[in-house]
Amino acid sequence: MHSKPYGNDTAFLEELRVLLLEARGSTSAQIAISESEANEMLVDRERLEYDDEDGSSVASDIQRDQLKDFAAALRLKVDEIDVAIARIDEGSYGRCDECYEAISKPRLLAQLPVFTCVSCRASV
Ligand SMILES: [Zn+2]
Repeated sequence: MHSKPYGNDTAFLEELRVLLLEARGSTSAQIAISESEANEMLVDRERLEYDDEDGSSVASDIQRDQLKDFAAALRLKVDEIDVAIARIDEGSYGRCDECYEAISKPRLLAQLPVFTCVSCRASV
C-alpha cells in the first residue's frame, strides 16, 4: 500500500502536471467550441421553427443535445484534471483509488487523468 507512490519522484509528477495542464487547456477550448456551436444551432432552430416542413428542427435539437452532452462530459474531465493536479500538489497522484497500489508510469502518461490501475479498471 502506498499513500504517495510517486511522492519522491517529483520530476515525474511535474512531467504529469505539464501534460495535465495541456490537456486541461485543450479540453477547455473544446468546451468553448461545442458550446458556441450549440448556441449557433439554437439561433438556427428559432429560424427553422417558422418553416419546419422537413422536421429539420428536430434533427437540430438532437445535434444540439449531443453537443451539450459532449460539453458536459468535457467539463467533467476538466474537473477530474483539477482533482489530479490537486493530488500532484500533495504528492499523492498515481495511487489507485481502488486498491491503493501505484498506477504504472506508462498508464499515467497515456491516460490523463487516471485514478485506477489496469487491474482495478478491468474489474469495474
Ligand atoms: Zn488498483
